[in-house]
Amino acid sequence: MNQRIHTLPDHLINQIAAGEVVERPANALKELLENALDAGATRVDIALQQGGIKHIRLTDNGNGIAHEDLALALHRHATSKIRSLQDLENVSSMGFRGEGLASIAAISRLTLTSKTADAPHAMSVTAIDGVLHAPTAAAHGLGTTVEVADIYFNTPARRKFLKSDQTEWAHCLTAIERIALSRPDVAFYISHNQKTVHQLPAQTLLERIGAIVGNDFQDACLPVQGDNGLMHLSGFIGKPTYSKGKSDKQFVFVNGRFVRDKIVLHAVKQVYQDVLHVALTPAFVLNVNVPAHEVDVNVHPTKSEVRFRDSQSVHRLVFHALHQALSKTDARHTDSVSN
Ligand code: ADP
Ligand code: MG
Repeated sequence: MNQRIHTLPDHLINQIAAGEVVERPANALKELLENALDAGATRVDIALQQGGIKHIRLTDNGNGIAHEDLALALHRHATSKIRSLQDLENVSSMGFRGEGLASIAAISRLTLTSKTADAPHAMSVTAIDGVLHAPTAAAHGLGTTVEVADIYFNTPARRKFLKSDQTEWAHCLTAIERIALSRPDVAFYISHNQKTVHQLPAQTLLERIGAIVGNDFQDACLPVQGDNGLMHLSGFIGKPTYSKGKSDKQFVFVNGRFVRDKIVLHAVKQVYQDVLHVALTPAFVLNVNVPAHEVDVNVHPTKSEVRFRDSQSVHRLVFHALHQALSKTDARHTDSVSN
């Protein structure tokens, strides 16, 4: 090798980086859903084809993107959500890295159509294989539609790693359900291959839990509440007699973001073991809310992990709140008889 050093072209940089954020259609869908929520949408419509591999269309009624910003939205590290390190440390939006749309656009045919409240009409821009086509006028109400076709059509090495439509669809559904549980106040309408899958109006958390986790869980769960002056915990946990708990019915949200968090999971497990002496995999939906500066959300490009500044306090908060909720019902005896 006696080659001179050169900088890679932007499109290739984006394609390489896309691998970190968009491993499969479900990751692209998550990015689009988070953008819709960050835009203040109260309704999101999602239509998928072939597990999201063939086509993803997501429409929101959020505040839209100004015409002048439409092309910029597809650029890497272009974001309206933070400006400084201080903003990052206090970030409350789901996105902030400015990578979502750029990554998806690098590995698909992407069309972005949007209208803001003060624009006379919508504009649409398309990116195919890294080439941005000039924006054109379009018909669209207030908000944004993103269409993503043929994920990985231009990166065959990655395309090979996609699983069957059915498996990819299952991942997409998981991504949708996590987001839907995190925001029961937002309506979600979801179809796959033209078939309606969920029609979720804005509702209470308990109603949303019934729709997503199941009515049997809704009937067999206890409310959880906790506060230590700085951090707040709320949600629902399955009674010990609700034995159908599988790890896919465990939802932890930190400041609205679904995360896999060892601290919270450990606290839950400990309550069940130490207090109830049962080795169950409980089902639960827990919302942990902490001031933004108490938690680092920028641990991983997909933001599926967080780091707490004071993880012991979080552990104590979860442990005590669950302990209190579960010890109110001596479920081991009474409920097991009545069920
Ligand atoms: P990030 O979400 O990290 O800012 P993205 O690449 O996902 O990065 O989006 C880039 C920018 O495009 C966002 O900061 C936002 O201003 C705009 N944007 C993307 N999707 C939407 C949407 N659905 N509604 C309004 N604005 C959007
Ligand atoms: Mg984003």
